[in-house]
Amino acid sequence: MTIGESELHDLIRESVRGIAAEFDREYWHEHIQEKTFPTEYWQALADDGWLGVTIPEEYGGEGLGMLEMSIIIEELSRGGGQGGIIFVLTPVFGGIGIQRHGTEAQKEHYLTRIADGEMRFCMALTEPRAGTNTLNIETFAERDGDQFVVDGEKTFISGVENADAMLLVARTSEFDSSNPTHGVTLFVVDEPTEREGISLSELDTTVPWFERQYHVQFDGLTVDEEDVLGTEDGGLYLLWDTLNTERLGGAASALGGGLRAIDLAVDYASDREVFGQPIGAHQGIQHPIAESYAKLMAAREILYKGAKKWDEGEECGLEANVAKLLTSRAGTEAADRAIQTHGGNGFTHEYEVYDIWQNLRLTQTAPVSNEMVLNFIAEHQLGLPRSY
Ligand SMILES: Cc1cc2nc3c(=O)[nH]c(=O)nc-3n(C[C@H](O)[C@H](O)[C@H](O)COP(=O)(O)OP(=O)(O)OC[C@H]3O[C@@H](n4cnc5c(N)ncnc54)[C@H](O)[C@@H]3O)c2cc1C
Repeated sequence: MTIGESELHDLIRESVRGIAAEFDREYWHEHIQEKTFPTEYWQALADDGWLGVTIPEEYGGEGLGMLEMSIIIEELSRGGGQGGIIFVLTPVFGGIGIQRHGTEAQKEHYLTRIADGEMRFCMALTEPRAGTNTLNIETFAERDGDQFVVDGEKTFISGVENADAMLLVARTSEFDSSNPTHGVTLFVVDEPTEREGISLSELDTTVPWFERQYHVQFDGLTVDEEDVLGTEDGGLYLLWDTLNTERLGGAASALGGGLRAIDLAVDYASDREVFGQPIGAHQGIQHPIAESYAKLMAAREILYKGAKKWDEGEECGLEANVAKLLTSRAGTEAADRAIQTHGGNGFTHEYEVYDIWQNLRLTQTAPVSNEMVLNFIAEHQLGLPRSY
């Protein structure tokens, strides 16, 4: 029996599989081609309560945990398109961040709207010069009475065009090497596309997503004091707390994507006949698919373990990072093998496997790179010296 599986989890799987099945490849293809938000899909998830899965019932959510969220993301990703990864920006970053660190007023305002499907988030952390080194971010929010004035730039920010709110990470004090984790603050910026002081330029990225990526420039954006999430200057602790859920959510998405690649490879290998029998009868085709499936099953156990630990309030950094590493690698490999199984068809738009590979390959780099995940494991678990 898989860790934490229960009747409730079976019901959740069945329900979200049903939703995923209503939105076929055509639906996703159209939204990805036209770069439009999949509103009907989003609303179907909200109507069945899944966008508010971890949100407490008093704010209109289901009051469940990261294990249930992971199962939902996995099943939606297995259903195709951008079905699962869509969760990471809003229910994970917005929902969990505010649920854990928001004021009462923020919880009342944002959580009910997230659960209802009325509110979508984007997340602005990455900067052109700082890159992976978050401590080096330069976007600065200068206090001016009960407001802050923000100047700086962010890059690769996804989905700003669809966002009702932006989770913005900015410096509020200069970097101090004697206290390096101090001085960063998180802000919730409402209606980012309608605000004075924010300008966007679209980046030309290759990912097959309905969301666009942007370079975001801040020139004198004003943000109110009550839009600080958590404490002023204490944003890094909050960010790191939320990042474990982002790693778990990302891992669930890579797991589901990898399983979808395998499902499609199995279907194709069972149908396609070349030398008088299905190609799936050849072990050269069969074994790589079976091996990828085995790797994904093993990665799933560590993902569920990490999610369960998070739900029980235990430290889950190791499991979240290991799950992220293993699912991104095993998922990409599964998609690569699915392409090989499809022969020339693997490179056509008619079949989905090349898109899946692109999505899964990205999970090795974003939202966090596998090198940084390995750095975490090496330093925090194995006690090796920090090299950077
Ligand atoms: C499609 C897409 C969507 C994105 N969406 C968002 C978003 O919505 N919000 C947001 O804030 N960001 C977003 N990002 C940014 C993404 O999180 C970063 O690209 C990613 O974290 C890597 O940062 P970087 O590109 O600056 O790489 P760099 O920091 O320049 O690193 C380049 C390479 O060097 C490696 N490296 C760097 N330092 C070390 C070290 N100490 N040890 C070992 N290896 C190292 C990295 O792992 C990486 O492989 C998105 C990116 C993409 C491509």
